Amino acid sequence: MRKVSEQIISEAKKVEFVWLEFVDMRGEPKRVTVHASLLGEVLEEGIGFDGSSVPNYAKIERSDFVLLPDFRTFKVLPWKHKGKAVAKMFCNVCYPDGAPHPCDPRFVLDRETAAARRQGYEFMVGSEFEFYLFRRNDDKLELFDDGRYFDYPPRDKGEKLRMDLTIALMELGFIVEKIHHEVNPGQNEVDFKFADALTTADNIVTCRQVLEAVAEEWGLKVDYGPKPVPKGMGNGLHCHLSLSNPTTGENLFYDPKGEYHMSEVARYFMAGILDHASALTALAASTPQSYKRLVPGFEAPVYICWGGPNRSVMIRVPGFELRRGKGVRLEFRVPDPLCNPYLLFAGLLAAGLDGIDRRLDPGPPVLENVYRMGEDERKRRGIKMLPSTLDEALDALESDDVVKKALGEEMCDAYVRMKRDEASGG
Ligand code: GLU
Ligand code: MG
Repeated sequence: MRKVSEQIISEAKKVEFVWLEFVDMRGEPKRVTVHASLLGEVLEEGIGFDGSSVPNYAKIERSDFVLLPDFRTFKVLPWKHKGKAVAKMFCNVCYPDGAPHPCDPRFVLDRETAAARRQGYEFMVGSEFEFYLFRRNDDKLELFDDGRYFDYPPRDKGEKLRMDLTIALMELGFIVEKIHHEVNPGQNEVDFKFADALTTADNIVTCRQVLEAVAEEWGLKVDYGPKPVPKGMGNGLHCHLSLSNPTTGENLFYDPKGEYHMSEVARYFMAGILDHASALTALAASTPQSYKRLVPGFEAPVYICWGGPNRSVMIRVPGFELRRGKGVRLEFRVPDPLCNPYLLFAGLLAAGLDGIDRRLDPGPPVLENVYRMGEDERKRRGIKMLPSTLDEALDALESDDVVKKALGEEMCDAYVRMKRDEASGG
């Protein structure tokens, strides 16, 4: 039996219902709602469910699981049901004997980040979430506005919705740093402040839910798929990565004497990601549609290379000229908002730490627009392409021992099976 903090018990008294959520292998939440009067019991003992009814999650012969709420994630929702408050909590998935389920993505990331912490590294991630808004016109969906990058009303019609979204996210404990209209008509972006990797992965999942709820209030349809408009810009989920000292919070990627103010640790970490980029693509660009986004000319990466303030590369070192300092981080541009952020962050951390272990060198930055670089020049510089299909990325994942180990054998096998099925249209 677990000890439940008094604070949670008193918070829980203010609500009528609690959503208990875990994530499946796609990174999508599943939910059971309990009445708050049952919460004390559920918090101490967990609540049982049938894992075999969740696709790819468990075999029927060993399908009893228990959801154990993660107290740290208790949040009262910013909206009520019939005047009654509702709270939500993420849960970890365990076998009835308390052993963690190896296919629980939160468990995988928690395990990997805890191991890194023991080596003196806290993995920090921030994200930029892009999405489209559509309005319904009879049976057709039309782009909500014809605004462009950083436009304001009346061309931008999404501003009030973005502010509604921000208020809801802030009430859920997010620190929203920026919201704006993106490059394509109908396209928007919300950026939240970096946090430890598990918190950011939880935030991405919650952001999708809140975004859908807010869009529904507005009578709009939101689409955060990688390529909602075939000839338009894609939706990215750029992830800003750094390592900090778990005790002092100091940014270990910062060195005022380094190129772009990057420390040696940052360079090794980046080289690790470049080295494992193809396998990581299976986690970052996890749907067949993701590969329609990773094409030249749309500010989405196609080639495995890095640069400073260059939006055609796979890893950018942003804000160097603007911030001059401590905020130094790596912007990994491959992910889109349909990825499973838990598995992606576990893979990125393992790849980066492998770069540190092997003291890998990322080579010189690419300063030119790499979309326009001739094939010969790319060959001369050893710039390879990212996988161009989900199957190709899965092949790379299956032959990458470092990323596979971070996911764990059972999780990796189940993930590859599920994604091969999606790749073949299943
Ligand atoms: N929408 C672009 C993408 O698909 C990114 C634009 C940007 O740099 O913010 O990744
Ligand atoms: Mg953007």
